[in-house]
Amino acid sequence: MSKLQEILEFNKEFVENKEYDKYRATKNPNKKLVILSCMDTRLTELLPKALNLKNGDVKLIKNAGASIMHPFGSIVRSIVVAVYEFQTDEVLVIGHHGCGMSNLNVDSTLEKAVERGISKDVINTLCNAGIDVKKWLHGFNSVEESVKESVELIKNHPLIPKDIKVHGLIIDPETGKLDVVVNGY
Ligand SMILES: [Zn+2]
Repeated sequence: MSKLQEILEFNKEFVENKEYDKYRATKNPNKKLVILSCMDTRLTELLPKALNLKNGDVKLIKNAGASIMHPFGSIVRSIVVAVYEFQTDEVLVIGHHGCGMSNLNVDSTLEKAVERGISKDVINTLCNAGIDVKKWLHGFNSVEESVKESVELIKNHPLIPKDIKVHGLIIDPETGKLDVVVNGY
C-alpha cells in the first residue's frame, strides 16, 4: 500500500468514527500565542505536550531551523496576520538543541542534489543570477544566536506593534525542557 493510500484509508475511518470531535476549536488561538519552531520530527508531538498546548491554543509556524530568512518572507507574514487577524499578543521563537540546520554542510547538500540529477549548471545559473544558494541553504552556527536574531527581527519589524511580547527559547528535543534565551517582558 502506498503512503498516500494508507493515509486515506485511515482518514476515512477517522472521519466516520467522528474522532475529530475532541479536536474541535476555533480559528482564534485560546492562548493568544503564535509560536515559530522547527520542523524537526522529534518536536511534532513533544513540543505541544511539553508546553501544555491543545488544539486551538496557538498559531504554530514551522520551518527548517525555526529561522526567519527574510523580514518580508512568509514567516513574518504569518506572524503579522496572527497579530492583527487572530488576536495574538505574544510570540515565542523556539529553537532546539541538535538542530539539522545547525552547521549544515551546504557543500554536501548540493553534492546530494547533483547526485539526484540536478545539473551543476542549474546551480551555477542560480548563482550567476544573484541567488547565493549556499547562503540561502545555510542554517546557523549557534541556535542561541539564531533565536536572539529572530526575536530582535520580530520586535523591531515595522509592521509589528510595540506592545507585542516576543520571547526566545530553546527546547531539548529529548526531554522537552525549555531554556529561556530572551524574556520579552
Ligand atoms: Zn531543527
